[in-house]
Amino acid sequence: MIRQYELVEMVRAYNPEADEALLNRAYVYGARAHAQQKRASGEPYFGHPLEVAAILTGLKLDDATIVTALLHDTIEDTAATFAEIGELFGAEIAELVDGVTKLNKLELVNREAEQAENFRKLLVAMSKDVRVLLVKLADRLHNMRTIDALRPEKRARIARETMDIFAPLAGRMGMQRMREELEDLAFEVLNPEARTSIMRRFLKLRKETGDLIPRIKAAIEEALYEVGVAADVQGREKKPYSIWRKMEEKGIGFSQLSDIYGFRVITREIPSCYAALGAVHTAMRAVPERMKDYISNPKSNGYRSLHTTVYGPAASRVEIQFRTREMHEVAETGVAAHWAYKEGRRSENPFAVDPFRWLSDLVDRLEKGDQPKEFLEQVKLDMFHDQVFCFTPKGEVIGLPRGATPIDFAYMIHTRLGDSCVGAKVDGQRVPLWTRLRNGQSVEILRVENSRPSPVWMEMATTGRARSAIRRALREEEREEHVRLGREIARLAFERRKLDGGPKALQSGARKLGFATVESLLAALGAAELSGRRVVAAVYPGMAEDPADEVAPEDRPGGLVLGVPPGLTLAYSECCEPLPGERIVGIRSGRALEAHCIDCAALVAHEEHPERWVDLRWDEDAAHLGGRTASIDVTLANQAGALGAVATLIGDHRANIDNIATLARMPDYWRIRLAVTVRDAKHMASILSAIEAQTIVTDVRRTRLPAPQPKAEPRPAATIRPDAVEAVGR
Ligand code: MN
Repeated sequence: MIRQYELVEMVRAYNPEADEALLNRAYVYGARAHAQQKRASGEPYFGHPLEVAAILTGLKLDDATIVTALLHDTIEDTAATFAEIGELFGAEIAELVDGVTKLNKLELVNREAEQAENFRKLLVAMSKDVRVLLVKLADRLHNMRTIDALRPEKRARIARETMDIFAPLAGRMGMQRMREELEDLAFEVLNPEARTSIMRRFLKLRKETGDLIPRIKAAIEEALYEVGVAADVQGREKKPYSIWRKMEEKGIGFSQLSDIYGFRVITREIPSCYAALGAVHTAMRAVPERMKDYISNPKSNGYRSLHTTVYGPAASRVEIQFRTREMHEVAETGVAAHWAYKEGRRSENPFAVDPFRWLSDLVDRLEKGDQPKEFLEQVKLDMFHDQVFCFTPKGEVIGLPRGATPIDFAYMIHTRLGDSCVGAKVDGQRVPLWTRLRNGQSVEILRVENSRPSPVWMEMATTGRARSAIRRALREEEREEHVRLGREIARLAFERRKLDGGPKALQSGARKLGFATVESLLAALGAAELSGRRVVAAVYPGMAEDPADEVAPEDRPGGLVLGVPPGLTLAYSECCEPLPGERIVGIRSGRALEAHCIDCAALVAHEEHPERWVDLRWDEDAAHLGGRTASIDVTLANQAGALGAVATLIGDHRANIDNIATLARMPDYWRIRLAVTVRDAKHMASILSAIEAQTIVTDVRRTRLPAPQPKAEPRPAATIRPDAVEAVGR
């Protein structure tokens, strides 16, 4: 436990004018008040407020904040009262302790509405004095550091709350260091496997290339020495959570991640930042278009630095930030830099985050709003600003992407509601359906039974869910139209040849041509996928028939791909197995059209024949229509449980494994090919990243075969020569 004189020394180190007597009184008071209590770990309780105070000394905060940290749990947990603290430590500290106390009580509830109410109180308290939040964040940080002592359910809940609310809040207040540590501690509770696998990747990388950090650091220092710039160079591996988030966001694997190392060059004044940047660019090649000047154009939260990325040793890419010491403090501690003390006085950093603008906005809205739940969603929106949250007339919250309209809202609730929507009221007012919904609005959908979506809705809807439902409804309508037309075509075709075209004839035609129902036969006729002559020939086989006309209905892609010329049958190429979201092109031969990825090696064979090429693109909603299967080749350690781990990972990503084949099995490794059904290319990419993050895996990539395969037959693994499996970047 930190001793009394140690704490005083920690404060005096940055604030020599600190009120020593006040700190001593608070230490003694807190220690006595908590004397009989133990933490969940069994340690004396007072160790906790002390550690919270120590965290805040790291932010160089004033005496009142440090004292508040020492006393923050006394009103709640001990005999101490607000009045007593006011008498002993003054009104300012009593108010601060009271603010934190109110928030502490809130932690224990679980229901969403109560959580929202807590959050409202947190913000009200913050808006009175942001130091309440600083103590609260330090309190949460220490509780996260010691979370192992708690029961698993409680651990998970607190970690989730930390990840959802406290870490983004710290980030919003510009406190990057606090945010990173909170995220990483929560990540460890919420997804320990992912965190461990990333740490193992770092270990493995260090084994392969040696520790690159000192090498990069030396290279930067040498470059600075050449031009005579004095600076402090710091380098680090990025935190597992930020690596994981990047892998997920960009859909790339660990090995493709460019910026796993972050370096900082901290100079004394601004001109040296530019000089240092120039020196580094002279010594190392810069990655194009990665240079940013946030010194002459600071970010809205006051952040200032120069950013660049250079090619470092061992093919690494290294992100470097150049900033002055003062900018560095603001970047790390954000709002706390407002209160930071230096030589006994507030440092009044002009570039620190101004918490008041953001907070007073929030509190304004809070005072107007009535529902705490609504408010929570509003605040979440402010932190996750790509979403809007609206309400049903019953008060249920519906989350939508920014830009969503009442149509999206209706389909989000139910497809039937969307299909029968004819209008909407927002906050009680009739609005056009193209109105963009705003946060916190209540939306009522007006409907008429049996009405249908209009094609113009496609322009108004933004969510994939609404768009695919609209498309489906439109297609159904189109199909009815096709059936009607097909019936007419069939009637004429039979009549012209003076043959019987009654229901029995049509049934036999449907059966012979491989359609499940007469209706689907008629729909195909109406859509001109089939000629009347072919139907007649099928029913009365005396007629001549062109086998190239043969179109098996199951070959027809259910509208996943746009741009297929009428009369052609689309197939997906086996060599590259295109997935929704990838750029594709069609190669035509006779009546067949084969879709390839734009980078498929097989396309080379058709370069001389531009007339065969057909522009294709995926229907935007293809991902929602069931998914497609593609193969991946995985090289993994030949050890028990390795395949199981990979299979589980794929299952966790809600994808199916359709087939597993062994390509090679060696004493130390095992190479397998998995056919995986995924929604789209992004889905596949996130699966590949997750697999690649496993240490048991040495390589994973999409299967790429060098030549197009005319017939879709499953190829046994044994026929694949290992050298024929070519790696094409995914
Ligand atoms: Mn506490």
